[in-house]
Amino acid sequence: MTEDGLVIVYTGGGKGKTTAALGMALRAVGYGHKVCMIQFIKGSWHYGEMDSSKRLMPEFELIAAGKGFVGILDDTSPKEEHEKYAEEAIKICTEKILSVKYDLIILDEINYAVNLGLVSTQDVVELIKLKPKKLDLVLTGNHAKEEIVELADLVTEMKEIKHPFKSGIKAKKGIDF
Ligand code: ATP
Ligand code: MG
Repeated sequence: MTEDGLVIVYTGGGKGKTTAALGMALRAVGYGHKVCMIQFIKGSWHYGEMDSSKRLMPEFELIAAGKGFVGILDDTSPKEEHEKYAEEAIKICTEKILSVKYDLIILDEINYAVNLGLVSTQDVVELIKLKPKKLDLVLTGNHAKEEIVELADLVTEMKEIKHPFKSGIKAKKGIDF
């Protein structure tokens, strides 16, 4: 890899942000690139990629660094607990970005962590600025802050046209988790 890396943001209210990032990881591993996905918020539920990523080891590393849903569904943790996990996730991201071991790093749901007040916009801006020249950095989650969009090279907004959830169809294994 010789070109400079990109800052990529997947945002918007339609489905497909994390899936797009995972697709990119799959593509990158095909070239033997080293990929690390650090998931904010996620950690209490099971997602298929937590197991399939192991089949792509050692090139693909996935770290679920969250404490699960915040203030909804099965959440019983106090906000401080979520903040502690998010702070730890930022530390992991900093370490991984500075390690210069990876070609692609994905900060999954980091925009939600910002919107929930678990992480500051400044924390994310600083992470982006730490990026080694050649590293591709992906950030996912709806309502990406303007400061983050500003620093990105590629921003895609997923737009919901239809979602089965609206007709009462529950999240599906292999499709949604
Ligand atoms: P995915 O992980 O499926 O790519 P996503 O990353 O775009 O989705 P998130 O905001 O991270 O979306 O939400 C994750 C979960 O919420 C998934 O189970 C997803 O199917 C569901 N979801 C995503 N978009 C919508 C929507 N517009 N309405 C209802 N549920 C949604
Ligand atoms: Mg997502």
